[in-house]
Amino acid sequence: MTPNSQTIRFLRKRIPAFECEPGCHDCCGPVTASSEEMARLPVKSDAAHATALAELSCPHLGKNGCQVYAERPLICRLFGTTPRLACPKGKRPEVMIEPAIEEHIYRYFEATRQVLV
Ligand code: SF4
Ligand code: SF4
Repeated sequence: MTPNSQTIRFLRKRIPAFECEPGCHDCCGPVTASSEEMARLPVKSDAAHATALAELSCPHLGKNGCQVYAERPLICRLFGTTPRLACPKGKRPEVMIEPAIEEHIYRYFEATRQVLV
């Protein structure tokens, strides 16, 4: 396991989970991720990327929601767990993310080349 994948695993485990409004994916849109996270996602065609971007959507968003849920990037997991990225539907975990973990995530973003998913 690379240091990078260890960091991803460490951070994923520490982002609190919560129940979304059923069927909602309002916070899905153009997001960025590190190359390590991208390597875990299926490759989408340029056309699929262009269509998603034109709709301000994500190429992995399907009719029934995220098609890569188990490997969704950190930014998707972080959404709703911090007041900085509050869910517009008011959903949240009982206990929000620890500030130190949130800072660690932002440091990871800064330390890695982020590309459009
Ligand atoms: S975090 Fe909020 S906006 Fe995003 S999918 Fe869940 S309920 Fe919808
Ligand atoms: S990867 Fe999944 S959760 Fe993240 S923006 Fe795309 S569809 Fe939404």
